[in-house]
Amino acid sequence: MGWAIALHGGAGDIPVDLPLDRRLPRESGLRHSLDVGIAAINAGLPPIDVAERVVRELENWPDFNAGRGSVLTADGTVEMEAAIMDGKTMACGAVSGLISVINPISLARVVMQKTPHIYLGFSAAEAFAREQGLEVADPSHFITPENVERLKQAKEAKRVQVDYTEPVTAIRGENKLLGESDGGTVGCVVTDGLGSLAAATSTGGLVNKMAGRIGDTPIIGAGTYANSLCAVSATGKGEAIIRGTVARDVAALMEFQGLSLEDAANFVIQKAPKSTVGLIAVSADGSMVMPFNTSGMFRACATEGGHSVVSIWA
Ligand code: ASP
Repeated sequence: MGWAIALHGGAGDIPVDLPLDRRLPRESGLRHSLDVGIAAINAGLPPIDVAERVVRELENWPDFNAGRGSVLTADGTVEMEAAIMDGKTMACGAVSGLISVINPISLARVVMQKTPHIYLGFSAAEAFAREQGLEVADPSHFITPENVERLKQAKEAKRVQVDYTEPVTAIRGENKLLGESDGGTVGCVVTDGLGSLAAATSTGGLVNKMAGRIGDTPIIGAGTYANSLCAVSATGKGEAIIRGTVARDVAALMEFQGLSLEDAANFVIQKAPKSTVGLIAVSADGSMVMPFNTSGMFRACATEGGHSVVSIWA
């Protein structure tokens, strides 16, 4: 089937009457990033390079909840996290608690390639980014006026907000998950159709999250996973995705039950609590799926066969 690429810009209960001024910038961010990915594939870059490159574009697009545009913690700060995984070698890298690194996904890649470890967090990850010469900025660079307002609303309502999601679950004390947030976690999965696959995911997490909270995105097997069969990037309520080991479950169903990518992904999405999860996934043979059990997921995909689409709702 050849190569295939899919990307997402966050799942949630996205209202069908989402105002155009909030819809169009995200659609153009997805289209732009997809085009960057297609160009990179056509230039012969391996999937891991393509996935990193695409996620960097999405991190730099302030309408998504990753990199610049990340949502704010309860303290009014940004704590970004990301993970990347190469399906062929199963090498992976992850980072959390970043306050100044312009492209968290690239730091995750450096952790993967230049350390004996998989996951670095907070001040040590920041120091490592500087040591490795990654681009950094003052923390204020990442804070957009929209996210300051979003945090204010979340605090007034005493809520921890998930992107685009209605109130569902109490996660601590009086705080409940609520949506109205506009940002979206970003991710990209790529297969070259020749046995190489990669997954990459990056996020600012949840609006009004506790400082120090770590979500599913950087947890290998939860929000991000790739092996020789498939590559998966998830989005939605991090706590539900971690409990469900969503990304690894897709791979495990293929590996141990012999399910197709489509059947495995649909099973995992149906099993997850309603309105909590979306994912994008590709398989080694070039098939691709983008299921979600929320009302929508900002997403885009393309295949070597010429199929290309950007969409939000079912
Ligand atoms: N999964 C992310 C988190 O919980 C949020 C999202 O996907 O929008 O941190």
